[in-house]
Amino acid sequence: MENKENTPKPAEAAQPQRPQMAPRRPRRFAPRRKVCRLCAEKIDHVDYKQVQIVKSFCTDTGKILSRRITGACARHQRQIMRAVKINRNLSVLPYNG
Ligand SMILES: [Zn+2]
Repeated sequence: MENKENTPKPAEAAQPQRPQMAPRRPRRFAPRRKVCRLCAEKIDHVDYKQVQIVKSFCTDTGKILSRRITGACARHQRQIMRAVKINRNLSVLPYNG
């Protein structure tokens, strides 16, 4: 074990050519600030018995729509979430979906 070969690696072989990234297109529309619908209507508390309101924050299949889509504030989103879960238990809204 005396003949240790110490061959340096070629520098060029290590770097594969990458295709150039496409330049990012600037946004055409400024994102509109969403306003919580329940805050705008001055609804302080979402009750599970207000099925009309609760259903408007769900899909047709019964999923709760995200805040990103509805624009609901954190407080109201929590109330909606609770109301939906109560209504699912009461089989007003479906569990599946
Ligand atoms: Zn709100």
